[in-house]
Amino acid sequence: MTHDTNRTYAEQVKHKLQQVRQEIQSHISDAQRKTNSVSLLAVSKTKPIEAIQAAYQAGQRKFGENYVQEAVDKQQTLRELSEIEWHFIGPLQSNKSRQIAQTMAWVHSVDREKIARRLSEQRPADMPPLQVCIQVNISGEESKSGIDLSQLPAMVQLIKSLPNLQLRGLMAIPAPQQSFEQQCQVYKPLQTAFLELSKTDSMIDTLSIGMSGDLAAAIASGSTMVRVGTAIFGARDYTKTSE
Ligand SMILES: *Cc1c(COP(=O)(O)O)cnc(C)c1O
Repeated sequence: MTHDTNRTYAEQVKHKLQQVRQEIQSHISDAQRKTNSVSLLAVSKTKPIEAIQAAYQAGQRKFGENYVQEAVDKQQTLRELSEIEWHFIGPLQSNKSRQIAQTMAWVHSVDREKIARRLSEQRPADMPPLQVCIQVNISGEESKSGIDLSQLPAMVQLIKSLPNLQLRGLMAIPAPQQSFEQQCQVYKPLQTAFLELSKTDSMIDTLSIGMSGDLAAAIASGSTMVRVGTAIFGARDYTKTSE
């Protein structure tokens, strides 16, 4: 984020958060959808503690992280902010599944049977079921994460059989597209699959799509949860992170 001399970083975050909320509302009305039908996940990966504190003070409660160690460290530091709901949205590695199962409220990136089984087995008995989305690869060869839509029925069945996971919906990270129309076209098969799936189970209510660069198309395509980092917290600087 370019530091505006008249505003502290915390003030900038609050201001940007307000702008993003307004932007989401205007896309919702453009798409003729219900007010508050899209929730906002603030993606705080690589961002400092003060960024999360500022957003929390401005009423934000759902935060998304991609790196397990960073997420766990932030949770420790911020444990007094007891209303935070932590969402894990990054690639899942088997050797990190226990930490995720022990600390997160949601995981958006479940895309392998082995990981799903481990998360369920490792979820502590005194915590509510882990809320999960299945990550779908809607950009073909370009992405290594996510299942193919043809594998969805089997993955849904598996997750529903696991006692400590609660299936909530689908998530995708599409490859960048040139236009609003192309973005919507890429989302179309996912939106159709989600609508079918949500009819079968009232707990399946989450289509996790939309990032800073494609909020309008994602909301027009039925997103119920957008995951926004840059537009709230500014550009990320990966040269400083070690993971
Ligand atoms: C980083 C990230 C985001 C946020 O992206 P922005 O373009 O900064 O809004 C959303 N979803 C996932 C899975 C991410 O890794």
